[in-house]
Amino acid sequence: MRSPADYVSRRALGVDASGIRRVFDLAAKMKDPINLSIGLPDFDVPEIAKIAAIDAIRTGHNRYTPTQGIEPLRTRLRADLSEEIGRDVGEVLITSGVSGGLFLAILSIVDPGDEVIFVDPYFVMYTHLLTMAGGKAVTVDSYPDFRFPAEKIEAAITPRTKLMILNSPSNPTGMVMTEAEVKAAVAIAQKHDLLILSDEIYEPFLYEREEGLSTGDLGLSGNATASSASSPSVLSPQHLALYLPSPARLYEKTIILRGFSKSHAMTGWRIGYAAGPAEIISQMTKLQQYTYVCAPSPLQHAALKAMDVPIGDAVAAYRRKRDLVYEGLRGKFEVVKPTGAFYIFPKVPEGITASEFVVKAIENNVLVIPGNVFSGRDTHFRISYATTDEKLAKGCEILSGLV
Ligand code: PMP
Repeated sequence: MRSPADYVSRRALGVDASGIRRVFDLAAKMKDPINLSIGLPDFDVPEIAKIAAIDAIRTGHNRYTPTQGIEPLRTRLRADLSEEIGRDVGEVLITSGVSGGLFLAILSIVDPGDEVIFVDPYFVMYTHLLTMAGGKAVTVDSYPDFRFPAEKIEAAITPRTKLMILNSPSNPTGMVMTEAEVKAAVAIAQKHDLLILSDEIYEPFLYEREEGLSTGDLGLSGNATASSASSPSVLSPQHLALYLPSPARLYEKTIILRGFSKSHAMTGWRIGYAAGPAEIISQMTKLQQYTYVCAPSPLQHAALKAMDVPIGDAVAAYRRKRDLVYEGLRGKFEVVKPTGAFYIFPKVPEGITASEFVVKAIENNVLVIPGNVFSGRDTHFRISYATTDEKLAKGCEILSGLV
């Protein structure tokens, strides 16, 4: 007789989530921790979007939507993205969060044995999704500065490499690829005929302007740059309307994934979108039809309304918190100053692994995530600084005291 555990697929067993589970088990025992582990904004969904969601439910938007998403939201996203990248972005599919987009993209692109290349540290879901799809993750170390290691990436490409995943701004490092790095990545993709999957979920959270950067530098037009030259040190909130050098500006064989989870604090609403070549997006749509069916209907309507809510104040607040946490840690830790998202990824001191350091932090009531969750290395830890200034300051003080 088989026990229930004997029915579990090799696919499910192949996904090892023990690292993060150990952290959560430890965290469950903490009373009122200083929680610097949460990968979501600490502000609430904009009021306008809440009202729009309630209205959508009341006025009957409670049924399935078309698989690809509601027309007005797709049309608006296609127009905005196309304007930003300076050409028609292609088809748009509304997904169940960016996670849904990642799942459908990987299932649509990766055959068993195909190799997919991306930098280490990486967003943890990539390796697990590739395991599920039977693909092979080829990760390329980007320590210690987390810059795009173009030469090492190129050296790791084989005839089986099919896809390059980029994630800028990055979870867990908070690094934003520079224009030159994006160009280098695109040149490699072009040379080796790879598709690019660009996970841009943190796209609005950009804190530095590249010196001398203009739309023209990427060879494309568009209104997305705040092009008046000003020094990065005197950025005012409106100047934070920077733009992301997306590979889609340069390379048509790019699938963009973005969403509302981080930009509008809607992680529980499950609204994301994928944009790119029709040949891929149509396959993702077909697979969505037989998996998620569609993204939540009333929340698609609310997301459309949320697009008109300015989020510059939140971005400015996170830029300030980025400075706070960086200044609070750099005396004691080797740490690269992040340029986007809301994460920072310091190195633990010599002689101790990140996992051991995190146990010490938890014993001192601070919850952070060990780097081995995102990496082949266990030398760094991730802080999410999307929390109050008080908790941040206290957290930095306690962590520094452990060194
Ligand atoms: N990509 C990255 C890099 C992320 O950090 C996250 C969320 N932590 C996701 C995708 C998934 O986002 P969503 O909640 O929209 O599924």
